[in-house]
Amino acid sequence: MIEIDRNILRAARQSGKSKMFGELINYEIRKRLTVTEREKFDFFIIKAELYYERGCCCERCNTPLNLHGFELAHRIGQGAISLYGKKIIHHKLNLKIVCQSKDCNDFFNIGNKPGQVKALVAEIKEVIEGE
Ligand SMILES: [Zn+2]
Repeated sequence: MIEIDRNILRAARQSGKSKMFGELINYEIRKRLTVTEREKFDFFIIKAELYYERGCCCERCNTPLNLHGFELAHRIGQGAISLYGKKIIHHKLNLKIVCQSKDCNDFFNIGNKPGQVKALVAEIKEVIEGE
């Protein structure tokens, strides 16, 4: 996995775009992975894509982030995977890129706001169905 990660990161740095990731995954790397590796890999790609799409800075405090040193905040926490499934919990719409401050991570947590959770889950389902 480490070797793959390096290749992807190099490609990301060179292109500055995330489109290229998809091609690499589909045609070169992804099909060679086991199901578990593929899951980890897909999540890594989402993380790298988000990093670039959202401007490489903490979405709360705007601190510039290092690609290896930032966190993903789940708006609906990972504890809810059993309830909603990985597709929803690890969906981009449920994720924020944040610095390592606990305040920034906690800021996006909507786990205790049932109305917002319901709305977000519905929104993600709609996006998934449209894909
Ligand atoms: Zn922050």
